[in-house]
Amino acid sequence: MEEIHTIDHLRRKIKTARQAGKLIGFVPTMGYLHAGHMSLVERACRENDFVVVSIFVNPTQFGPNEDYDAYPRDEKHDLAILRKAGVDLAFMPTADLMYPDGYSTYVVQEGQLTATLCGRSRPGHFRGVTTIVTKLFNMVQPDRAYFGQKDAQQVAVIRQMVRDLNFDIQVVVCPIVREPDGLAMSSRNAYLDHSQRSDALVLSKALFEARAAIEAGQRDADKVRALVRERISSVPAVQIDYVEIVDADSLKPLKRLQGRVLIAVAAKIGLPRLIDNIQLTLD
Ligand code: AMP
Repeated sequence: MEEIHTIDHLRRKIKTARQAGKLIGFVPTMGYLHAGHMSLVERACRENDFVVVSIFVNPTQFGPNEDYDAYPRDEKHDLAILRKAGVDLAFMPTADLMYPDGYSTYVVQEGQLTATLCGRSRPGHFRGVTTIVTKLFNMVQPDRAYFGQKDAQQVAVIRQMVRDLNFDIQVVVCPIVREPDGLAMSSRNAYLDHSQRSDALVLSKALFEARAAIEAGQRDADKVRALVRERISSVPAVQIDYVEIVDADSLKPLKRLQGRVLIAVAAKIGLPRLIDNIQLTLD
């Protein structure tokens, strides 16, 4: 595996791979890699001849009062597990390389997909995401790009962007990887102390209870939302940001549960803000 720190070097390597007829898979990450990230990386390695993983904590997707400076980083560990997984290139640009002095072009997606859920609580977040993903897509020019269902809204936004901007890239979505007790894996779980870690479990528990209620026949979105809110509120240290039940593609709120249904939650547990979701397909 080669560690790449400049755009020129990245482009040279990509060009050689492409000239050799290789299919290129790409996994964008912010590092501090865990089994959730690695499920994307492993799938990319299975499905492509040449795999690029970027590690970049993207400043433009963090709000002014968010955790950009504190975001966990462990480059040495990340590189070791990427090497073991068989990745070809690890691209690790600096913020100055991606956003040099005078940088002024942003990719902004309008409409429902970015206005709701995390887009509402984190203004500017998706502008940062669509901008950095566009830049990385232009640099890597992959055949396939891998994203996690953990960030369900990001998946909807990226799919729309790929359609709108005519990127010739297949977006591959991988299921959420969870800890054995149900907590969705996240780099931000590193922030949780022992008691916050056990409080955080209520998010996945509430979602699993919602799924059980739906499997038992409940189709009223308000009732399911109330159930999830009530369950999460039973843990006082957990402060709900949102509980939403939406169509998984349009992210429009649902009244009656039908089709591809996304139940998404975001909550603060002390300072850390965590998200989780489940997706169901219903007749
Ligand atoms: P991040 O480093 O948080 O930007 O995540 C990089 C990619 O890994 C994104 O596409 C995430 O959705 C995905 N990812 C993060 N956590 C998980 C998880 N627990 N299961 C599956 N994919 C994940």
